[in-house]
Amino acid sequence: MPRPIQATIHAEALRHNLARARQAAPDARVWAVVKANAYGHGIERVFDSLRGADGFALLDLDEARRVRELGWRGPVLLLEGVFEQRDLELCSRLDLWHTVHCSEQIDMLAAHKTQSGHRVFLKLNSGMNRLGFAPAHFRAAWTRLNALPQVEEISLITHFSDADGPKGLSAQVRVFESVAWDLPGERTLGNSAAVLRHGADAAVRADWVRPGIAIYGSAPDYPEHEAAHWDLRPTMSLNSRIIGVQTLLPGDTVGYGSSFVAEQPLRVGVVACGYADGYPRHCPTGTPVLVDGLRTRSLGRVSMDMIVVDLTPMPQAGMGSEVTLWGRSAHGAQLPIDDVARAGGTVGYELMCALAPRVPVVVAD
Ligand SMILES: *Cc1c(COP(=O)(O)O)cnc(C)c1O
Repeated sequence: MPRPIQATIHAEALRHNLARARQAAPDARVWAVVKANAYGHGIERVFDSLRGADGFALLDLDEARRVRELGWRGPVLLLEGVFEQRDLELCSRLDLWHTVHCSEQIDMLAAHKTQSGHRVFLKLNSGMNRLGFAPAHFRAAWTRLNALPQVEEISLITHFSDADGPKGLSAQVRVFESVAWDLPGERTLGNSAAVLRHGADAAVRADWVRPGIAIYGSAPDYPEHEAAHWDLRPTMSLNSRIIGVQTLLPGDTVGYGSSFVAEQPLRVGVVACGYADGYPRHCPTGTPVLVDGLRTRSLGRVSMDMIVVDLTPMPQAGMGSEVTLWGRSAHGAQLPIDDVARAGGTVGYELMCALAPRVPVVVAD
């Protein structure tokens, strides 16, 4: 028997969440963001469920090639654009649309020999201070691009830093509008948080939205809202089993560093899941876990291959009992990935993306 850990990708939940994103910004076309191997889900595993999107947005040229190999003929957008000159050959050959966020990328385009005109998304740094032209240089970049025979169409892109919080979008939307108000071309501004929280905002609705995390069923603004508040369903479950049981006496400890000390007699289960499976090592004692669909807590440090859980709330549980690290249990109960992420001081994004290659994955409906 293989080690009992398994991840499940829920096809129906992916379709549902994509529909939710569409509904939240109804006039916009939707890029399904599938960077980081579809947030750890696997591009090949999510593709069928997400083919109702209007396009796929990602970062890696190899991922773009994989989307084309799956038979997708629609738009594919490189969110960071090209990294070196010869990447443009692949853009021409596979008809990839690409972000242009710096003058070096314009230089590369100017030197690129191609018959096919490129569709580019010129990126404005509207305040995030990651990628993009500063407002003072944006229009000059547009003019330069517009003069290139290699460029067929220019669209405009920016990214929000605070769509999930109280600061909101308005300052960045103002910057965008003040720089780009009269420039032609399609716009794309909103990520998941912008779509869910500000989908009625005219700037977010035009012309494309770029939801990622919402499609994967995690709330972009947790803990203010849970995924269920936005009617998002978990798309990844991580399940395993109890492979050992110990009975502790007061004073007994659990795991490396003896960080958990039992105060009373305690039955504990050892779960076949550790940080080498992608379970965060930072999750402390008390991180929520489901055993047989019932909520309990982790005890002691996460080790490479195992964690230990408190079996007090489920005295019937023992060897072979089902454990849900996040997502859905076979018993129907759910443990939001965001609850686990928070216990580990991180976000649902990181947990999904970190699912380790050694974990077998199945796709279910
Ligand atoms: C990752 C990313 C997104 C999607 O963000 P979510 O918060 O997952 O919705 C959108 N746009 C860009 C440029 C990104 O890099």
